[in-house]
Amino acid sequence: MKEIKVYQCEKCNNAYFEPKAAEKCCTPKICEDCGVEMPPKYYYVVCDPCREKRKLERAEKMTLAEYFKAYPDHYPLFTVDGECILLGDFDCFDDWESYREDERPQYLYGATQRFVELNADGIIDHLNEEVSFEDDVEMFDDDACAEIYRFCEDWNNRNAFEYFEENPKLAVFLSEEAANAD
Ligand SMILES: [Zn+2]
Ligand SMILES: [Zn+2]
Repeated sequence: MKEIKVYQCEKCNNAYFEPKAAEKCCTPKICEDCGVEMPPKYYYVVCDPCREKRKLERAEKMTLAEYFKAYPDHYPLFTVDGECILLGDFDCFDDWESYREDERPQYLYGATQRFVELNADGIIDHLNEEVSFEDDVEMFDDDACAEIYRFCEDWNNRNAFEYFEENPKLAVFLSEEAANAD
């Protein structure tokens, strides 16, 4: 038999095997960038505003005009709060701006196109998982697999569901000056 030692947090009495963990338990975390106090078990190493700053620093930057040129016109934009702006619902960007009651944002984030569609590789993998043979048995020959690929491609061309996610690597500035400043 062996005795074990635990360490208690002085504030909340939670027990830990490591003294360091007990010490850190109820001690506020400090933002790595600005030094502000964060909750003790805050998931990130920086506070929310600094996290947004870091995200923006890493992102490619372009103006709204450049975004409209680079991407198809049904691509939405995302606010820093993650709100999706479908510009197709408005005649122009100014309409969207006047529809919003809060202050004009300095920048938005671009969009990444995604599809909900059939995945031929996934379907074939799934079929192969149905049985576990002792030896490798080729259940489906190349022709049978090729048929699945053809079917999926055809089905996807007609039925794939398009949707958009925020592209955190692309910041779209609403004014020329802001996009070029840095
Ligand atoms: Zn504690
Ligand atoms: Zn901070």
